[in-house]
Amino acid sequence: MTSKKQGKESRKLDFSTGWDYAPAPQSSADITLAKRYKHFINGKFVAPANGKYFSTINPATARPLAKVAAGNARDIDKAVKAARAAYRNVWSKMAPAERGKYLFRVARIIQERSREFAVIESLDGGKPIRESRDVDIPLVAAHFFYNAGWADKLNYAFPTRSVKPVGVAGQIIPWNFPLLMAAWKIAPALACGNTVVLKPAETTPLTAMKLAEVMQDADLPPGVVNIVTGAGDTGAALVQHPDVDKIAFTGSTQVGKQIQRQLAGTGKRYSLELGGKAANIVFADAAIDQAVEGIVNGIFFNQGHVCCAGSRLLVQESVAEEVIRKLKDRMETLIVGDPLDKNTDIGAINSKEQLERINAYLKIGAEEGVQVYQSSCAVPDTGFWCRPTLFTGVAQSNRVVQEEIFGPVLAVQTFRTVNEAIAKSNNTPYGLSGGVWTDKGAKIFKVTRDIRAGVIWANTFNKFDPTSPFGGYKESGIGREGGLHGLEPYVTLN
Ligand code: ADP
Repeated sequence: MTSKKQGKESRKLDFSTGWDYAPAPQSSADITLAKRYKHFINGKFVAPANGKYFSTINPATARPLAKVAAGNARDIDKAVKAARAAYRNVWSKMAPAERGKYLFRVARIIQERSREFAVIESLDGGKPIRESRDVDIPLVAAHFFYNAGWADKLNYAFPTRSVKPVGVAGQIIPWNFPLLMAAWKIAPALACGNTVVLKPAETTPLTAMKLAEVMQDADLPPGVVNIVTGAGDTGAALVQHPDVDKIAFTGSTQVGKQIQRQLAGTGKRYSLELGGKAANIVFADAAIDQAVEGIVNGIFFNQGHVCCAGSRLLVQESVAEEVIRKLKDRMETLIVGDPLDKNTDIGAINSKEQLERINAYLKIGAEEGVQVYQSSCAVPDTGFWCRPTLFTGVAQSNRVVQEEIFGPVLAVQTFRTVNEAIAKSNNTPYGLSGGVWTDKGAKIFKVTRDIRAGVIWANTFNKFDPTSPFGGYKESGIGREGGLHGLEPYVTLN
């Protein structure tokens, strides 16, 4: 399954530096994928009620990897019933320390199988192996370890309160961090004594199905974790199921709003992690080279498929020319290509639909009169690819400044004063994350206090840790995941 063709394409690159990289492909020879994956319900792999399956493809080759079950309302109902029975009879009654042991076991198995998970994540999702190997999978294990530790300490997490689980949680996740989003949702839910029905994204279901194998290997009691694959209608059936106590959703703001409307008045709890349009603010006194690297990391690595991506750059006018020149130089050295090559910086766009969405925004940008700059790198002939792109000469009101593009596309604006930077940064419907680059602690405190965003990084970007809460303001969502705050959506406090 290694893609020789793409390796060759990457090697064709002629860097301005004159450097070249020998291909360093991660082998996928020892990865075994089944031809077909059924739902995981009540501890067993179960055929879909309507007998239908759909293909999940490798976006780097556009070739199918496996088929997965297309879930409908009957499958969801079966999974919710299994989750309810497991909640009532087993999981909520189990001694919390025992629940913790299962989670520790899951974490250890994931660590043992981490390379396999990383390769499958890159095959199914298109992200560079460096990212899935060094970021996604280690964080998945870390989230299970972290939450395992809380299982028998909930009374310390919420002192003086009586802590109870919520019940059955329906969890719907996107395709940008498939296994990590599953871990963010499953680990705290289980630690707090809930059972779950997870609906992975339709373009990246494979690591979730591998996670189901881990749950079996860990001897997790049947029904505690159920995984039903399918598209939006499968997710909608989960949202609408009357016996689900809580919905946790990560995905687009549009679907998040739809879910919020559907849940209004039902008494179901929900947490939503939605879109973003974060700005990296670079002051003239910043370490410019570090800032440039942080900006590149924040938007170009992982194809910009990150809801907290730094998709806007606000740069102080006096250093704008320098920063943009350095950014363009750095963009020329970025390698777009085979996700399984360890040299690759930017992998495949997750799906044809997503590439079309990004391309539509490139067109919108051009129509809005902004200047579009793309690196000159080669991209493979097959699969879905987007060169790193800069928009300059943009106005605050431009759609490419206001709307989430979810691709390796950066909109650059300038500012003169701290207050102008803060006002521009806050002037979108989103509030998920932000970044500030400066030598002055006072500016860091001012910006982090005045920007309405859930996470703000100072002199770094896109750093994650299971102990740290993550979530948005405004149209970026409701509720927090991670850290102590991430337990709250999964407990009832009296
Ligand atoms: P994106 O546009 O980034 O693909 P979506 O919000 O469409 O994000 O998808 C995120 C997750 O939500 C996926 O698992 C998808 O199948 C699911 N989903 C899509 N539409 C709905 C819906 N109406 N109700 C519930 N889940 C949905």
